[in-house]
Amino acid sequence: MTADPGRDAGLAAGAVNVAGISITPVYVADLLVDLPDVHMPVYVHVVEHPQGRILVDTGLTESDPLADDMEPQVQPLNRQGFDIGSITAVVNTHLHFDHCGGNKLFAGTPTYVQHRELEDARSIDGYTVRRWVDAPGVTYVELDGDIELLPGVRIVATPGHTPGSQVVVVEAAEGRHVIAGDSAVFFSDLDDPQTEGQRIIRSLHPVAVWLAHAHEPWRPAASSATGAQALPGRVD
Ligand SMILES: [Zn+2]
Repeated sequence: MTADPGRDAGLAAGAVNVAGISITPVYVADLLVDLPDVHMPVYVHVVEHPQGRILVDTGLTESDPLADDMEPQVQPLNRQGFDIGSITAVVNTHLHFDHCGGNKLFAGTPTYVQHRELEDARSIDGYTVRRWVDAPGVTYVELDGDIELLPGVRIVATPGHTPGSQVVVVEAAEGRHVIAGDSAVFFSDLDDPQTEGQRIIRSLHPVAVWLAHAHEPWRPAASSATGAQALPGRVD
């Protein structure tokens, strides 16, 4: 994204505006969500920060019987030249299989998740691919609510898509960005918020919201002209 220090109207009073923060989407998979032939991309997001490199969600690296009906076409991070070792922290917006399947690539790296989300993933049958959640070496840092991860980068709990969902809020020079996972799946979820999490996102007045399953970020002024909201069905 382009830094423009002169444009900070999206920032609340007292918000940290750290130069040098950027967000990069990385395409990792394609899922079949509705017959016939409606596909949904799966993106993870990298937050580049002067003090670290944060990965938000990890996509998936393979299929599983639970995911087979979505015929995953995967481009795992470890097979696309992604610098795995440079990641200093992982954030799971939630633990549905298409968001945590690559956690195993980051064994030993602090992986932030809401306590409630981890509890549900480990206890509710069919919730996710449990062996991906608790792959060897995955090191969870369990949260109960919001934290500041780095100056200008916060994790905010956004219940709705799942009770334990969370988003990453980034104070970039351009304004406030939100990396939303599935807290909003479609642009229409933000145009007309229905869940507590979606209302929280809107209340932050972001200039852009990055969704896991859309090619472009939602922006408040340009949200009505996108094809993302036309996708039928929902993805887990
Ligand atoms: Zn989900």
